[in-house]
Amino acid sequence: CGIFGVVGVTDAANFVALGLHALQHRGQEAGGIVSHDAEQGFNSARRFGYVRDNFTSQSLMKTLPGPLAIGHVRYSTAGSKGPTQIRDVQPFFGEFSMGGAAIAHNGNITNADALRRELIERGSIFQSSSDSECIIHLMARSLQRNIPERMEDALRRVEGAFSVVAMTRTKLIGVRDPLGVRPLVLGKIGDGWCLSSETCALDIIGAEFVREIDPGEMVVITADGVESVRPFRPRKPRFCIFEHVYFSRPDSILGGRSVYETRRQIGVELAREAPVDADLVCPVPDSGTPAAIGFSQESGIPYAMGIIRNQYMGRTFIEPTEQIRNMGVRLKLNVNRALIKGKRVILVDDSVVRGTTSRKIKEMILDAGAAEVHFRIASPPTAWPCFYGVDTPQREKLLAATMSEDEMRDHLQVDSLRFISLDGLYRAVGEDKGRNPSQPQYCDACFSGEYPVEPSDMIEKGFRL
Ligand code: 5GP
Ligand code: SF4
Ligand code: MG
Repeated sequence: CGIFGVVGVTDAANFVALGLHALQHRGQEAGGIVSHDAEQGFNSARRFGYVRDNFTSQSLMKTLPGPLAIGHVRYSTAGSKGPTQIRDVQPFFGEFSMGGAAIAHNGNITNADALRRELIERGSIFQSSSDSECIIHLMARSLQRNIPERMEDALRRVEGAFSVVAMTRTKLIGVRDPLGVRPLVLGKIGDGWCLSSETCALDIIGAEFVREIDPGEMVVITADGVESVRPFRPRKPRFCIFEHVYFSRPDSILGGRSVYETRRQIGVELAREAPVDADLVCPVPDSGTPAAIGFSQESGIPYAMGIIRNQYMGRTFIEPTEQIRNMGVRLKLNVNRALIKGKRVILVDDSVVRGTTSRKIKEMILDAGAAEVHFRIASPPTAWPCFYGVDTPQREKLLAATMSEDEMRDHLQVDSLRFISLDGLYRAVGEDKGRNPSQPQYCDACFSGEYPVEPSDMIEKGFRL
């Protein structure tokens, strides 16, 4: 998901809508905005679909006045049951004795089922099926006198991955979990401030990047400035390495590194680790593009657009059902026949999850007359599900959970298939010595099976580490 908040500007909701539009790649199912205005109090709007199709209408935006607003774009992940309902769309809102508060959450709470059971037994009335709603109910039960402190109380009981943007009548609040699994950055716009999942959303509103919120840090922002507190026991950070590979936009800066440059470097590493003689290097657009550029630069094999992407399709992976996803590949990607015929082609993609994309593309490209097809993948084999906010399927559906690299190659019927090594990936994100096996610098659980936070709800449901 994507989260964004602004304080200290006229009509903050308009800025939030723009920010969410720039974060649309993080969630395409639905979006919501809450604003606060001194006269009109809190207002909110939640809609299915793209930000640009909803939060551009003047009649809707007029209902979201005030200098303070937050918003959320949703993509449902592992914990969610069935299709998104409008009641699951964030931000969530609660009234407390000291006033209202709204929260928007990116990540996934790994003990949400246990918390929900406990809260319901003690009288909480849940409105949604979302794990994030626990935070509001935990806040309601806290005995603290002000909302930021209630949030600290609530978040100390929550396990897993959370970047949160919240607001009261006067404050904009941002928090990252102690491991800092999901991103969150602080920006300055005129006399106001903003919080965003990624820096690309600061650019769209002309805000200046100030810094990242630290793992385990909470910032409370008012017209007077930014106050920082550390509510959690300090831990070694474990940022999601897959944000660098796929999830974030290539024009964002993560941990001081250009996402584009990291992806290009992954391609360079891949070309060194798994060279192959061929005529063309083609990306599977858009997610494979920077790595394909790096692969071409390092190998000297010409880069070409062998697959053309229909720009009117979103991220297919994010379509929740298998059938739509199957169709999705053809709706989104087509082979550039004139270019491919008779050529030995290297295809570069960011990841193989179920193998749906690679299988379809291989069929399409052979059908167009390619002489050879070589896959090079910009991440290690995805052998484990993510429980921290990226929607990977159950373990059984992951190609790499049951097959070796060679078996996957035979299954996909391609001439060769190679994935970047975990160490190669770490080198590409700037860890020159590779992955530190005794203290990994990132979360890489979907590749390594080493989960930095025990996925306790899933273990209860029978998931085995
Ligand atoms: P597959 O078709 O193998 O199931 O999925 C791989 C494709 O899904 C890749 O092209 C990748 O760009 C895309 N993708 C989109 N969202 C995600 C995600 O959340 N996780 C992963 N691993 N891949 C994703
Ligand atoms: Fe990121 Fe993978 Fe860890 Fe999930 S399991 S947080 S996708 S690195
Ligand atoms: Mg892709």
